[in-house]
Amino acid sequence: MKFNALKGVEDILLPDIRIWQHIESEARGIFSVYGYSEIRIPVIEPTGIFTRSIGETTDIVEKEMYTFPDRAGRSITLRPEGTASVVRSYVENHLYNLPAPQKFFYSGPMFRYERPQKGRFRQFYQIGVEAFGIAAPEMDAELLSMLMRLLGKVGLRNLNLEINSIGCEECRPSYKKALLAYFYDKLNDLCPDCRRRYDNNPLRILDCKVERCIDLRKEVPQVTAFICNGCRSHFDNVLAMLQLMNISYTLNPNLVRGLDYYTSTTFEMTSEHLGSQKAVAAGGRYDRLVNEFGGPVTPAIGFAIGMERLAALLKETREFKPLSPDIFIATIGNNAVSKGLLIAGDLRSKGLWVEVGLDGSSLKSQLRKADRLSSHYAFIIGDDELSSGKVKWKNLTDSSQGEVEIDKAAEFISSVR
Ligand code: ATP
Ligand code: MG
Repeated sequence: MKFNALKGVEDILLPDIRIWQHIESEARGIFSVYGYSEIRIPVIEPTGIFTRSIGETTDIVEKEMYTFPDRAGRSITLRPEGTASVVRSYVENHLYNLPAPQKFFYSGPMFRYERPQKGRFRQFYQIGVEAFGIAAPEMDAELLSMLMRLLGKVGLRNLNLEINSIGCEECRPSYKKALLAYFYDKLNDLCPDCRRRYDNNPLRILDCKVERCIDLRKEVPQVTAFICNGCRSHFDNVLAMLQLMNISYTLNPNLVRGLDYYTSTTFEMTSEHLGSQKAVAAGGRYDRLVNEFGGPVTPAIGFAIGMERLAALLKETREFKPLSPDIFIATIGNNAVSKGLLIAGDLRSKGLWVEVGLDGSSLKSQLRKADRLSSHYAFIIGDDELSSGKVKWKNLTDSSQGEVEIDKAAEFISSVR
């Protein structure tokens, strides 16, 4: 019987896993200095959490969710994103009683039944953050500066920050009206999805990826012309802070994002190197969601980074090699194997990566293996070495060699590594 992985999912193997670990460890470092603590949210949630927050008429909810009844008939969904769960947890655990801001990061797989292609998977990974409790524009700016710092630290610089404000419930109705008027005589030319969106969620038309809908949007009214004074001044202050922090950005008035919970600031980090799946990270404010989930009105903002896309970009800029052992212990004869294992245990307890030749193959083939692993040193242990209490060492990079007492081997390696 031979099995293959499902379509649209991936195993992450060496050397790529090194890139992922690099990203994760830099991310943890950055989040900790900005005061974000880790939250582990479940992979499965009650379906309603997502339909309610992401929105019934979004692509994610209409077409992409992995939803199934569990054995008791409850509707369960494999999370398509992280924000809804973090908000659910924030409300369920009354975290709004703690001093604001409450700041969290998460990392893990998300699931969307999309058409698999470059940069688009059915199981993909996100690292995301959410900050609750602060409405000030400086919160937006600090969060964006953290994202830029993280991407820079990881090794990416030439990314474009696209930013927009999509207003609040005060100003959105007038913008919706303007959209309806604009698309009224174009209705028959819109794709079938957008024709439906026209009636139940016209803002979504701006997010449609179908060529002719993109064309029809050329002169669409811009949301920023409709936002209320509060949203306008919030947005202007965010932009002013970004300038102060030397963060460059591009205004993108069509950036509405694919999820309905956003209000006011929305943004994406994009790269031209990713083709049409160009967003590496995306996020925005969602000042209504905590309240909709039964908590007090609480401003909030967050972003999520797409790991696959970030890893793909990094792979272009830098080589990530597999790590290699410090020492390969080549053994000649049975006694040598057991002695080799004991020495290896000692060296490993001192933090060195040690491989031992266990398969009884010839010295030559063991040394070849050490070379293939790019081991830095080889130790050779045979009968002679066992009786003299010394091992032969060989530096596999410069071919120097010598002998060292077995008891001093760890010290010796530590001193030369
Ligand atoms: P896109 O416009 O690319 O479909 P989205 O609006 O659906 O993105 P979000 O839900 O905001 O994206 O997710 C944030 C990030 O997660 C995206 O910018 C992207 O990097 C990544 N992402 C989203 N969907 C996928 C997927 N199916 N496969 C890989 N990465 C993804
Ligand atoms: Mg999408």
